Amino acid sequence: MHELSIAQGMMANLRPWLDDQPEDLRVLKIVVKAGPFRAVVPDALIFAWEVVRNEHPKTAGSVVEVDASFIEVKCRACGESWNAERAVFKCPKCGSDNLEFGGGNELFIEKIETNEKNM
Ligand SMILES: [Zn+2]
Repeated sequence: MHELSIAQGMMANLRPWLDDQPEDLRVLKIVVKAGPFRAVVPDALIFAWEVVRNEHPKTAGSVVEVDASFIEVKCRACGESWNAERAVFKCPKCGSDNLEFGGGNELFIEKIETNEKNM
């Protein structure tokens, strides 16, 4: 379950920042941008975070939301281009597998909402 290691990585990245914040700061929501190539299962990441969030008092009440991004796909054979929500290997128009990909590899914390202000 690689979502657990993603959640642990998020905590590792957030911890220094959390430690810098005022004692009464509480994280409410963390929005994670995830590209289709990362194959993040949103429910699995949400569940993993419910375990990991307890490692820090400032995130113990927080939830994760996954903001899925797209892959920009272009077919080199017929020129068709489209946005795919998941990894694709064939052009839906001509069936070619000669595809060019843009984006879709994102995996980062896009937004953190706290009881104080939006970061
Ligand atoms: Zn094509």
